[in-house]
Amino acid sequence: MKRLLYITFLTCGLTLSGVAQDTDIFPRGEKAANVHHVGNVWLSELSPADQVFTYSTSVATFDPGARLDWHSHPGGQILLITQGVGYYQEKGKSKQTVRKGDVVKCQPGVEHWHGATPDSGVTYVATSPAQNGKTVWLKRVTDEEYGAGSSTTSNGASNANNQEQDVLALSKDKWTWMADKNVDKLKDLFDDKAVFVHMGGSWGKEQELNVIKSGGIHYKKADVHEASAQIIGNTAIVLNRITLLAVVGGNEVTNPFIVTEVYTKENGKWKMGSLSFTKTMGPGTEQPKK
Ligand code: MN
Repeated sequence: MKRLLYITFLTCGLTLSGVAQDTDIFPRGEKAANVHHVGNVWLSELSPADQVFTYSTSVATFDPGARLDWHSHPGGQILLITQGVGYYQEKGKSKQTVRKGDVVKCQPGVEHWHGATPDSGVTYVATSPAQNGKTVWLKRVTDEEYGAGSSTTSNGASNANNQEQDVLALSKDKWTWMADKNVDKLKDLFDDKAVFVHMGGSWGKEQELNVIKSGGIHYKKADVHEASAQIIGNTAIVLNRITLLAVVGGNEVTNPFIVTEVYTKENGKWKMGSLSFTKTMGPGTEQPKK
């Protein structure tokens, strides 16, 4: 099934991991000389700009750890991530993790860099209006900048730990998306066969999305007291101990829960297979009505 592409302006946090490399869609082209990047990068111009189509379109393939120097595009640039997991950072903002299916818009003149994560290569198709001038190359991305705020490290031995951190970051983003009723993000996160278990019943993806969209249940605020992740092969099990402020059928209710989330890695991307709420005793527990 064809993936749904969605536009992301990167104002919201993108996270996630992935190591799997599929086969290349386009030829990798020539390995680029290390002038404006570190590590191994292949560049191939797919469609040069001409009189009619004034956009130059290229594919870039990065080995793990490879990244471009800081730069800007006078005409801006759009990146369509086709494979793997990478980083994208604009000056003065925190680094974002981007993955297969993400669309990144670099505004004209904005200083930024992009590249692979330490543990995964990344491939993207880049398109940029050529008539406004060539890329302006700036400083090299330092190891501190590359590593800053990263949930991954260059130590391969800690890969399992990285995966735990990645899935925990995704779980955290998910609470934000649920609070914001960001159905587009959740639609992408939930596997088509995902199951959801609530106090009021259990159901599948479509119903969960409808419930969130309609406000039938609004997960207004989840205070996460504790979160842990276990990686078992391609499966991640995340436990969140939370106090949830929700609006259910128009009434605000606060309840303590242990939330079990099951994720499976598909094509290098974590998808949610299950979300299950188990009510616990504890602060915030509502006394049963008599
Ligand atoms: Mn760029």
